[in-house]
Amino acid sequence: MSDRNTNIAYLDNNATTRVAPEVLEAMMPFFGDRYGNPSSIYRFGGEVRRQVERAREQAAALIGASPSEIVFTSCGSEGDNMALKGFFQEHGERTHIVTTAVEHPAVRNTARFLGGRGAKVTELPVDGYGTLRGDALNSVDINPDTVVSIMWANNETGVVFPVGELAEAVKARGGLFHTDAVQAAGKTAVDVKKIPVDMLAFSGHKLHAPKGVGAAYFRAGTPVRAILHGGHQESGVRAGTENVPYIVGLGRACELAAERIAEENTRVRALRDRLEKALLEKCAGAKLNGHPTERLPNTTNVSFENIEGEAILLHLDEAGIAASSGSACTTGSLEPSHVMMAMGIPYNYAHSSIRFSFSVYNTDEDVDRVIAAMPGIVEKLRGLSPFV
Ligand code: PLP
Repeated sequence: MSDRNTNIAYLDNNATTRVAPEVLEAMMPFFGDRYGNPSSIYRFGGEVRRQVERAREQAAALIGASPSEIVFTSCGSEGDNMALKGFFQEHGERTHIVTTAVEHPAVRNTARFLGGRGAKVTELPVDGYGTLRGDALNSVDINPDTVVSIMWANNETGVVFPVGELAEAVKARGGLFHTDAVQAAGKTAVDVKKIPVDMLAFSGHKLHAPKGVGAAYFRAGTPVRAILHGGHQESGVRAGTENVPYIVGLGRACELAAERIAEENTRVRALRDRLEKALLEKCAGAKLNGHPTERLPNTTNVSFENIEGEAILLHLDEAGIAASSGSACTTGSLEPSHVMMAMGIPYNYAHSSIRFSFSVYNTDEDVDRVIAAMPGIVEKLRGLSPFV
């Protein structure tokens, strides 16, 4: 069982992950005796500053960056906000933000917010797999006032975008390229030496660091504008006394993620594939959402025709399984996820999409539990379906 303490089969690792014991261990001294302020000039602070800088090296190494290109943030959303709002500060109403219809709200709503303040926003449609072709930007007007923000991997489907080709196309025409790599970092190779992105955001709690810490990458030479003003921390672009224990934890988590990426792509991928195959074979009306191969090794998203996703989740919960659904039940109206809608998934499938997302802490027992529960849940709920 993935989680001995809670006895749940936790298959919602794209929502958040458990903090790795090694990460917690690295953090603990900084809640205790090592409480100095990294900006202080005496040694008690200087030693802490060295640990923050070590974490910066660890975070940089995970994505092939230089430590000086890393800014610590509070979360992935903050990195996305810094990239887009920072660009808007420089380019004002000339700003053109090009993004996709399947971005996380951290990008989508930030772009829309800036749209309300004079930026032009273009949301590119995606294909049925929820992705874009590498040449998708050829017909888009891109110039030095353009910032393109396209996710490395989608949180709902795990689909991986051709960011290399897309970034090349933007750079060739003088625009800036930002990528939301919150789901990609630590699960698949992310190397800014090979992929010419200018800005990138990732988040601690998706890779076994705690919630409330993240990192943003700005390629050397890329203008960085603060959205949080105050002291001179983080080279003056992100004020506020550093969250030292969490930054140290993020650093350790990045180091562990780099060591475990091979396991993600072998053992974790095999668990995901075994579950997916069984669901598609054993559950009537099951259909895979997203690209079958161009995706993260840890994610599968399956729809179950004519069944309400939230009802499936409640039954899975009863069976001790944590997963997630794209649809959100608010004030009694059930809205399918914007990702499923953008992919053109028919309503009676879009409503029933369930995402299972794995981590290195998952085991065969977790998969067995879902395989044992799911066919019965589908059969029961299909009899009650509001769609038929
Ligand atoms: N971008 C993507 C693709 C995500 O999946 C998430 C979180 O689910 C975020 C951004 C936001 O990250 P955070 O919760 O660290 O702000």
